Amino acid sequence: LTERELLDAQLGPNPAAHIFLSGAIDLSFGQDWVPQSLGVWFRPLLLHLGAGYYVNLLRVRKAGVLSRHRHSGPVHAITLRGRWHYLENDWVARAGDYVFEPPGETHTLVVDETDEDAIILFHVTGGYTYLDEEGRSIGVEDVFTKLAATRAHYAASGRSPNDIEQILR
Ligand code: FE
Repeated sequence: LTERELLDAQLGPNPAAHIFLSGAIDLSFGQDWVPQSLGVWFRPLLLHLGAGYYVNLLRVRKAGVLSRHRHSGPVHAITLRGRWHYLENDWVARAGDYVFEPPGETHTLVVDETDEDAIILFHVTGGYTYLDEEGRSIGVEDVFTKLAATRAHYAASGRSPNDIEQILR
């Protein structure tokens, strides 16, 4: 056994294995997009349970205010298509733009009415809490809720559990 194989065997099924996803940034719409809410989907690239973060593509078709939320960990966002912004800031993110969201920040996601979906690659560490207009918690999102939604969607669309194992760490 190589050192790598030995480590993998000790840690369990593939905990530290690398991931290669061919065509991961294919933006066309298909069954691999997991429904999140009305007019919002995500496509997971990596769900890292051990380290408490995930990387996914978010697709937003609906225009308007999507959510107000507060982050407990850092977020990196690279916009691939369309445009979006936070009510609290004066910039608009477009294809090719990078955004860092620090832990502890609360902001309100807005997607403007356009012909094309907004598609953003998000690397989300920790979780975030959805807030209502009075700042009360109305839900949470983290790598575990993402996994549950992905599992449910893959099962409903007849996909192999191996498709999740491939991106789970
Ligand atoms: Fe955010």
